[in-house]
Amino acid sequence: MSSEKRDYYEVLGLSKGASDDEIKRAYRKMAKKYHPDINKEPDAEAKFKEINEAYEVLSDPQKKATYDQFGFAGMDGAQGFGGQGFGGFEDFGDIFGSFFGGGFGGGSRRSNTGPRKGNDRFMQMRIDFMDAIFGRTETITLEVDEPCEECSGTGARSKSDITSCSRCGGSGTVTTQQRTPFGVFQSQSVCPDCNGTGKKILHKCSKCGGKGYEHKRVKLDIKIPAGIQSGQQVRVPNKGERGINGGPNGDLYIEILVGRHKQFVRDGNDIRISIPISAVDAVLGCKIDVPTVYGDVELTIPAGTQYGQQFRLKGKGVKSPRGQQGDQYVEVRVEIPTKITREEKDLYEKLRSKKGHESPFEKFKKAFK
Ligand SMILES: [Zn+2]
Ligand SMILES: [Zn+2]
Repeated sequence: MSSEKRDYYEVLGLSKGASDDEIKRAYRKMAKKYHPDINKEPDAEAKFKEINEAYEVLSDPQKKATYDQFGFAGMDGAQGFGGQGFGGFEDFGDIFGSFFGGGFGGGSRRSNTGPRKGNDRFMQMRIDFMDAIFGRTETITLEVDEPCEECSGTGARSKSDITSCSRCGGSGTVTTQQRTPFGVFQSQSVCPDCNGTGKKILHKCSKCGGKGYEHKRVKLDIKIPAGIQSGQQVRVPNKGERGINGGPNGDLYIEILVGRHKQFVRDGNDIRISIPISAVDAVLGCKIDVPTVYGDVELTIPAGTQYGQQFRLKGKGVKSPRGQQGDQYVEVRVEIPTKITREEKDLYEKLRSKKGHESPFEKFKKAFK
C-alpha cells in the first residue's frame, strides 16, 4: 500500500519529456478507460480523478513547467491548481461524444443563456499521520468569487431592471444572413449586445457594479474526518469557480496527503509496526507493552517466536470514516546481539556444549546426504 502521490507522467503511462501530443493522446485513452460511467471497478473513480488531475497540470504549459522543475512541491498551496477542474468540460464532450450520443452527461449542448454551475477547483493539503487517524479541523484562507448578496448574482439593482435583450430576443445568439452569388449563408454568433446572456440590465447593482459576484478572501474551516486516507478528497461545496449566468459556484476538492510516521505504517485501515525483541525473549517468550495509536497495549510473545512473525492487536487500527475498524499488526524482529559480556558468552557456550543438543545446521547436513 503506497500512500505516496504518483508522478503525473506515470499516471498517464508516459515518461518525462513526453510531447503535448503524446500527453493528449494518453489522457484520452486513460480517461476513456477509467470513466466511472464505463468502468465499474471500485477504484475507477479515484483513478479517473488522478488522471484528470495529471492532465490538468501537464496540458497547461505553465503548470507543466512548474511541475517539471519542482514536482508536487510546486503544485501546493491554498491557491490550488485553480484552472479548469476536470480538464475542461468541452474536452469531455469531445471525448465521450461517441459514447453518449452527443455531449458529456447530456449537458454540453444546452443553451448558453441559462445559469450554469462553475468549474470545480482542486487543492492539496498535507496533514500529520495522527491527524488523519483522529481527524482535525484546519483553517485555510481562500480567494473565491461569491454571488453578490445584494442582487443574488443577477447584477441588477432590482428584478424589474432585468429585461430580455432586444437584439437577440433573449437567445444570446444572433443569426446573420449573407447573400452571395452562390446562395444565402447563415451564421450564428454570440450576441454582441448582451455577450450571450440574453439579458439586458437597465440599472446595475451598486454593490457589485453589475458583475453579479464579489471577489472575496475567505477563511474556511475544513473538517478532516477521522480515518481519512492519503489521496482521499474532502469536498467543500460552492467554493469552486464562480457560476455562469447566475449559476452556483463549482465545488472545491481538497486532496489530503497524509505524512509518514516514524514507527507506524498505515495500510488501509490497518496499522503495521515492527518491534525488536531479544533472542532470549523469542526463545522463552515474554510480555511486552507495544505502542499503538491509542497508547500502549500488552502483547504476549509466546515461547519459540520466529523472526518476522506477526501478531494482531484486534481493533487497534484506524476507524474509517465509514465506521470500519482496522487492526494493528506487530511484526517481531529478533535481534542477535553483536556485543556480549563475558558472562553471557559463558552462558551461550554452555548451551552449545550441552549433550544431546543438535544445531539446525547439523540437521540440515543430515538431510542433505
Ligand atoms: Zn443579446
Ligand atoms: Zn450585486
